[in-house]
Amino acid sequence: MGDVGLHLTASVGISIYPESGPASNLFDNAYKALAEAEKSGHGRIHIYETDILEHDYDELALYNGIHEAIERNEFEVYYQPIVEVETKEIVAAEALMRWKHPQYGFIPPNIFIPIMEKTGIIIDLGKYLLEEVLKQQKRWELFKFKQIQVSINMSLLEVEAEGFVDNIEKQLVHHQVDPQLIKFEITEDSAMSSEEQQVYTQLIALKKLGVGIALDDFGTGYTSFSYLKKFPADILKIDKTLVDYVLVNNEDQRIIKAMIELGHNLGMKIVVEGIENERMFDMIASYGCDYMQGYFFAKPLPVFEFQKLLRK
Ligand code: C2E
Ligand code: CA
Ligand code: CA
Repeated sequence: MGDVGLHLTASVGISIYPESGPASNLFDNAYKALAEAEKSGHGRIHIYETDILEHDYDELALYNGIHEAIERNEFEVYYQPIVEVETKEIVAAEALMRWKHPQYGFIPPNIFIPIMEKTGIIIDLGKYLLEEVLKQQKRWELFKFKQIQVSINMSLLEVEAEGFVDNIEKQLVHHQVDPQLIKFEITEDSAMSSEEQQVYTQLIALKKLGVGIALDDFGTGYTSFSYLKKFPADILKIDKTLVDYVLVNNEDQRIIKAMIELGHNLGMKIVVEGIENERMFDMIASYGCDYMQGYFFAKPLPVFEFQKLLRK
């Protein structure tokens, strides 16, 4: 046998103290950087940069401003497309809240949602978001845009609040939007909380309205299989954190594959989020995933930019 030429490439992930975060996280962050390097192609080098979430906000100032923020119209709904794998067409979108703070600029939801949950204002924000989405759905219908299902995230506090389902029913009737065009996402953590039974009852009532339900951030918590079996979701969303290292980690590949199979066996469709490039698309499509969401298709966009995608 003659010589065989092998073409090898190596990717490098670098983290530097203190720019890349605390010393205790250096290994972890180098690994994240390696995953980033692989995402952008073979044989790349990536240096880890601390995440925006580690930015120092004055929590007290945010806390004080949050009460009037809704009235002052500081919130804006962004939309991120959800794409059908088979056709690569946009069939849905997730509504994601953005807070344009007069002093700090854009504040990511991972910062303000927990504050809103602590203060209970999340219930008002949820109502505001639902109304905005319903009005938007009506506009898209009137102006003959492609009609898609829009997902709304809900916190445990909202689900438990009195009149939660009644308000949704009232709003759907008031805005005359087909319930099938709305979906609610509940995180695995909230769904499996100590209030499991109450959440279950509420979700069954919600389902009766005709809206869709998705189990979000799947794979980050501890789901009991007996609960998952009776859980009234039509969609299982596999969390981005599980997908981040999929190109470099065989174990993650096997986990995602198994989760997709599990969801399908329970009669659910699967959305995988955090798809950032074609290699991730191809790999996860080969596992039989139904829908995908991620920067590869589009980042969350302001409504006027997003709706251009519904014209094509
Ligand atoms: P989530 O429900 O898991 O939403 C997906 C998050 O992943 C979004 O972050 C989205 O921008 C981000 N993402 C999507 N694709 C990619 C990708 O390919 N790469 C990367 N790096 N990121 C991607 P976002 O908008 O910052 O939202 C963070 C979380 O805040 C959401 O996580 C959700 O739990 C919460 N949230 C956002 N809006 C609302 C809201 O109106 N109500 C409630 N209760 N929670 C909300
Ligand atoms: Ca979500
Ligand atoms: Ca998620």
